[in-house]
Amino acid sequence: ATFQQLKLNQALLQALEALQYSSPTPIQEQAIPLLLQGADVAGQAETGSGKTAAFGLPLLQGVDPNLQQVQALVVVPTRELAVQVRQELKQYARYIPNLKISAFYGGHSYKVEEASLEHPPQVLIGTPGRLTDHLGRKALNLSKTTKIVLDEADKLLEMGFEEELDKVMKALPGKRQTILFSATMEEDVKQLIADSLQDPRFVQA
Ligand code: AMP
Repeated sequence: ATFQQLKLNQALLQALEALQYSSPTPIQEQAIPLLLQGADVAGQAETGSGKTAAFGLPLLQGVDPNLQQVQALVVVPTRELAVQVRQELKQYARYIPNLKISAFYGGHSYKVEEASLEHPPQVLIGTPGRLTDHLGRKALNLSKTTKIVLDEADKLLEMGFEEELDKVMKALPGKRQTILFSATMEEDVKQLIADSLQDPRFVQA
């Protein structure tokens, strides 16, 4: 298949062409159509499968750059991954005017992060501890966040972020699209899917 056949918009296709991505990876081919339809998706995929673009391209297509509200949130286990996902999504968003993508993570300045919330990004990437800190300070409003991704869910659980994930999920609207990616599908990940996703569609790299 081609990216065109997956019904991605012109700005995204142009970015993919500039990046010389010639065709979608298997996980992208499976996940992108489901995500563009608004389904909740649980994906089993390792790093290197193209999972970031698999959830990132539909997220970018689904947010409105004219609304300065956090519309999509990507929760990741580590600051390294937060920075990496932001960089990658910025590459894909390069031809979408006015789209802001921010990353919040431990060790990063609260001042810089809070200043960024004066003009909220449409897409926010964050680690669970830092996101709950901002929620506790009432600095972060997730009431318009209708798309959430739990990336590397097995690692999020392994690192003990269950309580933080719970707080983040409770801050979101009930009517939302929930996406989860994990390298493994152990019992605890399956439980998180059962608790957080509605009628999930499963895809695998
Ligand atoms: P990920 O599995 O998300 O960590 O992605 C692995 C790497 O593959 C990233 O550096 C992406 O830039 C790259 N990538 C993702 N999708 C494609 C694609 N369809 N064609 C070529 N490279 C890709």
